[in-house]
Amino acid sequence: MTRWHYISLPIYLTTAMSTRNYNFSAGPATLPLSVLEKIQSEMLSLPGVGASVIEISHRSGPFLEIAGAAEANLRKLMQIPDDYAVLFLQGGSRLQFSMVPMNLLTDEKKSADYIITGSWGKNASQEAVKEGGVRKAWDGSDTSYTRLPAASELDLDSNAAFVHITSNETIQGVQFAAEPEVGDVPLVCDASSDVMHKPVDIKKYGLIYACAQKNAGPAGLTVVIMRKDLLERSKDSLPGYLNYKTHADADSMWNTPATFGIYVLKLVTDWLIDEIGGLEKMHEQNKLKAAMLYEVLDAYPEFYQGHAAVDCRSLMNVTFRLPSDELSAEFISAAKAQQLTDLKGHRSVGGIRASIYNAMPVAGVETLRDFMKDFASKKA
Ligand SMILES: *Cc1c(COP(=O)(O)O)cnc(C)c1O
Repeated sequence: MTRWHYISLPIYLTTAMSTRNYNFSAGPATLPLSVLEKIQSEMLSLPGVGASVIEISHRSGPFLEIAGAAEANLRKLMQIPDDYAVLFLQGGSRLQFSMVPMNLLTDEKKSADYIITGSWGKNASQEAVKEGGVRKAWDGSDTSYTRLPAASELDLDSNAAFVHITSNETIQGVQFAAEPEVGDVPLVCDASSDVMHKPVDIKKYGLIYACAQKNAGPAGLTVVIMRKDLLERSKDSLPGYLNYKTHADADSMWNTPATFGIYVLKLVTDWLIDEIGGLEKMHEQNKLKAAMLYEVLDAYPEFYQGHAAVDCRSLMNVTFRLPSDELSAEFISAAKAQQLTDLKGHRSVGGIRASIYNAMPVAGVETLRDFMKDFASKKA
């Protein structure tokens, strides 16, 4: 039995490798191959530990080392200043939709401003309403969330508890290229689908949150980066888990954290540092990948109709429609035959969505670009 297992393993591996698709899923999404290989090689035993990462105590030396390295990598890559806490939480970004207003609204600052540029921002504001006052500083629903507001369109309250934005709207494919100017009010950002896609100036933010499963690792881990002075706003009456201060005081070990997710985040950030060469390099690659697909949309504007306004286009999620639902379905199945998968758009937008996060290789985008040109020239 044991012998058979060892003999069959390499054969299985070869098969798995040759059948890996270019997977354009919006999330959970593709991860770097070298990260998956590392996970595989350490799955039965972490070097020198004799057990896998999912079988050891979160308070053990080997795990504390992994968690420490994950945080150190994040601080280095994103240049997170010392006066910001890094928290490893669970519950996804959906839980942050509630935790942010639960913790940051105060008796003096009872209301928050939401800049709503897509479905996720709308969802965030709907959860926040349950916790207190919400003002819509801008809402792009009239134009189906195809664009971002100009600075002059924002209706901001200088006494707001915080201003909430979604840096990249994953469903519509619109992305802020720069932060809106919000004065002294803390800027809170849902960066779930574009965290670490480029360097950002952390000091412009009060709090950034991101679930891991789009651009940073597996589902189950959510990273929160927040200015430490904002921790003072969290009331003791909050349930322990829902209080940022609980997690900050316990170094994210108040309860058992998402240990596997933290381990994978450590490997993904190792990859960004050692193989990609940092976030500037990652940004260059992301711009290059996105440009390849947007060039095809621009070359066939009647056939591929982009959802986002040209100056609001996302580097992460490229959204477009074809002239009919039948053609969209044909596009998806023809792409799948070439191992280009998970291209169906979100049901609220329809059409096609190609998610090209950090881990999508340039070669995958080139293959999709060539497929798109070929499909358009045959069908248009
Ligand atoms: C995926 C996503 C979410 C939801 O994340 P969950 O982990 O499923 O709660 C929220 N915001 C954005 C921008 C997302 O892309």
